[in-house]
Amino acid sequence: MATPNVVIEILKSSRGKEKAYIDGFLYILTKSCYPYLHWHCEKRATCKARISTKEGVVIKPESRSDIYSSHTHGANPVRGEMIKGFTQMKERALNSGTSTRSILASGLGSMNESTIAALPKFNLIKLTIRRTRSSGENFDNSATATEIIIPEIYKLTSKGQQFLLYDSGIHETNRLLVFGTHQMLSLLRDTSNWYSNGTFKAAPIQFFQLYTIHY
Ligand SMILES: [Zn+2]
Repeated sequence: MATPNVVIEILKSSRGKEKAYIDGFLYILTKSCYPYLHWHCEKRATCKARISTKEGVVIKPESRSDIYSSHTHGANPVRGEMIKGFTQMKERALNSGTSTRSILASGLGSMNESTIAALPKFNLIKLTIRRTRSSGENFDNSATATEIIIPEIYKLTSKGQQFLLYDSGIHETNRLLVFGTHQMLSLLRDTSNWYSNGTFKAAPIQFFQLYTIHY
């Protein structure tokens, strides 16, 4: 009999290792026999607790209280919440162009106070987010516009529409990148007055050229 109410969450440790999380207990994957996964308590040296899961649901032990009582120590929800928060922040760092500051802000916003109190210093978290970034597809570390390689995910909108409308080319000294959507360009086309904000000089001329290419 399965324990239908106990569902594991998969978290990633700071070293990128996947851990199963249930109510303050963390488990390391020890064996995988599809579709069954066997996990051991992360405090393996002093605790013999194990669980088996199938499609994310605990099938052994058979009750939530047996899961708790199999450990030689108490649950540590703060550590679990912390890893959970980190996992989410790292995912955002890899999959979005959002700034480190705002990933940190929204990540901390989702944690409770005792978790925040247990966190390492903010600078360390920032460093972790940046390191995650540079290990994935990102152009955060490019020194100049000529070096930027735009990852595919930034060329499309979240709805899968073209977002990078124009790129004059890598190694182009006055490289020009135009981001926008065709829908927004047609709104501009149908409007007689344009107001803008920014410090661009030659860009509008090239923008008009692009505009002509597309319409
Ligand atoms: Zn344990």
